[in-house]
Amino acid sequence: MGRDRFLPRPPEAPAHDCDFCPRLVAFRAANHNDYPDWFNAPVASFGSRRAWLLIVGLAPGLRGANRTSRPFTGDFAGDLLYATLLRHGLAVGTYDARADDGLRLVGCRITNAVRCVPPGNKPVAAEVAACRRFLAAEIRSMPELGTILALGVLAHSAVLACLDIRKRLYPFRHGALHRLPGSPVLADSYHCSRYNTQTGRLSAAMFDDVLARIMLSRPPVAATL
Ligand code: SF4
Repeated sequence: MGRDRFLPRPPEAPAHDCDFCPRLVAFRAANHNDYPDWFNAPVASFGSRRAWLLIVGLAPGLRGANRTSRPFTGDFAGDLLYATLLRHGLAVGTYDARADDGLRLVGCRITNAVRCVPPGNKPVAAEVAACRRFLAAEIRSMPELGTILALGVLAHSAVLACLDIRKRLYPFRHGALHRLPGSPVLADSYHCSRYNTQTGRLSAAMFDDVLARIMLSRPPVAATL
């Protein structure tokens, strides 16, 4: 993270007690009541802002990032995501499902379209819209960003909205690499959730293949942080 201190702070990042989404604020409070040792707050992004790849998920998992404070950490989706990143050299260290496991991302950063855990893992449209300002600030704050990987339709649509590009021009398609005019490449994958893998929509091999294609399409000049 060393060189990141020379970057301007994103113009907007959610406060620990961000209250733009009343339903999610109430859910955070209920979780805090039930699980006072959990994080139960907007989850910050993970990785350097000088990364060339930004991975955008849906929202923190209840017992994953909402518990541990780091995106995709502590639940099944993280097991698959971090194993795949380690295999492709996009992370170094050991993933141990804890925010303090020492895992370091290499050239990539991970965030969510919605920063607070939603009930049933399903944010409503108003919540996605409210949190878009933070995703847009995230994208603007990454000077060497060349590729965005959207995990699922909601993340795909949120990224296009941030870039002010109509989504009907670039429909979600697993495995696609959308060349957007004047913007980073937008790659699509089904979300690496337990549900998607258990139902057969996404296999570990399919997810690995998406990352392999992204690595092959990596911009020629890119940061290695
Ligand atoms: S989801 Fe985003 S906008 Fe809504 S309360 Fe959480 S941080 Fe704020």
